[in-house]
Amino acid sequence: MTNRTYKIASIPGDGIGKEVLPAGQEIVQALQDRFGFKVEWTEFDWSCEKYLETGQMMPSDGIAQLKDFDSIYLGAVGWPTVPDHVSLWGLLLPIRRELHQYANVRRIRLLDGIQSPLAGRGPKDIDFVVVRENVEGEYSEIGGRLNRGTEDELAVQEAVFTRKGTDRIMRYAFELAKTRKRNKVTSATKSNGIMHSMPFWDERFAEMASRYPEAETDQFHIDILTAHFVLHPDWFEVVVASNLFGDILSDLGPAIAGSIGIAPSANINPEGEFPSMFEPVHGSAPDIAGKGVANPVAAIWTAAEMLDHLGESEAAQCIISAIEKSFRDDATKTRDLGGTGSTRDVTQAIKTFCADA
Ligand code: ATP
Ligand code: MG
Repeated sequence: MTNRTYKIASIPGDGIGKEVLPAGQEIVQALQDRFGFKVEWTEFDWSCEKYLETGQMMPSDGIAQLKDFDSIYLGAVGWPTVPDHVSLWGLLLPIRRELHQYANVRRIRLLDGIQSPLAGRGPKDIDFVVVRENVEGEYSEIGGRLNRGTEDELAVQEAVFTRKGTDRIMRYAFELAKTRKRNKVTSATKSNGIMHSMPFWDERFAEMASRYPEAETDQFHIDILTAHFVLHPDWFEVVVASNLFGDILSDLGPAIAGSIGIAPSANINPEGEFPSMFEPVHGSAPDIAGKGVANPVAAIWTAAEMLDHLGESEAAQCIISAIEKSFRDDATKTRDLGGTGSTRDVTQAIKTFCADA
């Protein structure tokens, strides 16, 4: 019992975000008394819908409004009638950057009751974490285009790796590894092809590794690393990667652990000076929005990650066990997992399993 009260900002966003976020909140609410904590929710209707009405994804002082919360719980933003860069640059990226959420953390874990697409072809033991650098690297605004529309047209895109930014993501990965079953960190690199930033990345990795002598380390070029994710997922414990490489690995990871409908993700501010943000990996899924069939497990697992981060690890574990129980029956699994259940059926089942545990 922590007896703590948490102030959490919820941003349901667009599409199925508005269906799955309430499901996660419902589970958290149901656990409060039992585990002796309390959550005070404040909802923000920032979304593409809001953008179409007002021309802004969020108000100009949006970031300032979020600063004092303990966490941010986000559904999904994005809609076909709004260009992706508007939803990204109008909401997600400013939150990640201005709240210094420099570690994007994706837990890749094959839960009981889920069939990996690798089933029967590889090890069952898939349980590792991808730590992606979230604010610098390849995704920079530096660069430009010249001679548009001519034979001599060219585009230049600069990647920016600072020592501060590189060291802190690596430190986060090594610290995280200390808390895991195996104290092991794998670095994703490409220093055979990218001749400035990646050798620098390797140097910083070696330097950080020397400060954690008890940690096992290895490194792979990103191309072969993607192959190892598929063929030997049991090799990994914590994988640290730049923004672009981490982006790729953190979609591949959830794919080998089952389905996009169940995968959680977190944008962490490790120092705790600002709130961290927790969101499912999946997007707003316009094709199934409003039909009541979206899988709420990603949002519910995301809520468990948020509780774990806040220090409510028993409540988090209780949610994971309840999710695994819900996978035992087709009626409490959604269609994307081969079941027949609705968003409501699954949420209700997880709530009941949480209460019974
Ligand atoms: P984004 O651009 O925001 O990353 P996307 O458009 O690439 O997202 P999603 O919105 O995640 O992708 O949808 C990809 C596919 O996965 C869609 O067919 C969608 O219906 C399905 N999907 C995503 N999330 C869920 C879910 N929670 N339950 C069931 N199906 C889902
Ligand atoms: Mg999309």
